[in-house]
Amino acid sequence: MFKALLVEKDAESGKTHAAVQELDEARLPEGEVTVAVEYSTVNYKDGLCIGPGGGLVRNYPHVPGIDFAGTVEASSDDRYSPGDKVVLTGWRVGEAHWGGYAQKARVKADWLVPLPEGLDTRAAMAVGTAGFTAMLAVMALEDHAMTPKDGPVLVTGAAGGVGSVAVAILAKLGFEVAAVTGRPEQEDYLRGLGASQIVARDELTEVTRKPLESERWAGCVDAVAGAMLGRVLKQMKYGSSVAAIGLAGGAAIEGALITPFILRGVNLLGIDSVLQPVEMRRRAWARIAQDLPMDKLEEMVQPATLADLPQLGHDILKGQVKGRVVVDVN
Ligand code: NDP
Repeated sequence: MFKALLVEKDAESGKTHAAVQELDEARLPEGEVTVAVEYSTVNYKDGLCIGPGGGLVRNYPHVPGIDFAGTVEASSDDRYSPGDKVVLTGWRVGEAHWGGYAQKARVKADWLVPLPEGLDTRAAMAVGTAGFTAMLAVMALEDHAMTPKDGPVLVTGAAGGVGSVAVAILAKLGFEVAAVTGRPEQEDYLRGLGASQIVARDELTEVTRKPLESERWAGCVDAVAGAMLGRVLKQMKYGSSVAAIGLAGGAAIEGALITPFILRGVNLLGIDSVLQPVEMRRRAWARIAQDLPMDKLEEMVQPATLADLPQLGHDILKGQVKGRVVVDVN
């Protein structure tokens, strides 16, 4: 038997209800590797899956949790043996497949990444999908020739999960970081993570029809899109790149024109964490172990248990979760 946050759907009303329950191991889905989960975290998607589902969950009863870290308990795949420490993000685990809000998970071996040296399971979930995505964004910008000598790098949605980790990584790598936030009270937090400049959200949300603005940014990690991305593209330096990871401010790119692309050679790089190939995953986790300042990461952590998840799921959908939630499932 193991404990899990089980979401059940009432056949008559169609309403879902999430509660911690004891489940028999025989109920775990198929998969080559059984993991004794140690930690998980809370993402926006988890909020949807703990609640009514947002169209992500296929079948009920369901165990949410889009990422987890733990120890392999049993494996029919040669790549993993009992005792191995592993991390999982993406692959629609916690949506289409039972996820990490449980003491046990059973998944495909292909979906797992061995934890790199220097990272324990708790730290891996302090990083989570948000931090993993931030690292992918930084790597994409580096692959497009961004270096610290090029000038300031902008991070939008900076006080959020992805933004916070992006700020910490970029600062550790020696970049001058400008952090955009709509929460002025988070200035000390962002400076503590390594931001040297705070940009008020309002400065970048007015939609303009100007073809270009003064060149300001040598790179950008954008979690917001919407009107902000439309403005930021026009402020990018010649030949620089924006890594687009999210849509916290809207799915459209408002006010965007072709001018930054054809007059300044600006690149818009799309970042997906869910179906990222395994080699890239290993590379990103190794870089996280190397380049994310763990003391700064620890300052972002808010501890939680399985029983806290219904409330946390509700809170994250309202934008009321701060820092990185680390869920101890045991
Ligand atoms: P959070 O909710 O933690 O952070 C988003 C931040 O965006 C907020 O903290 C806020 O920052 C800012 N923000 C929120 N609403 C608005 C708005 N209307 N206008 C401008 N800024 C706003 O989310 P995450 O950091 O976890 O995720 C960020 C985005 O990335 C989400 O859209 C998420 O779905 C997506 N995502 C994509 C992934 C991928 O694979 N591409 C993986 C993970 C997440 P502040 O308070 O500082 O202003």
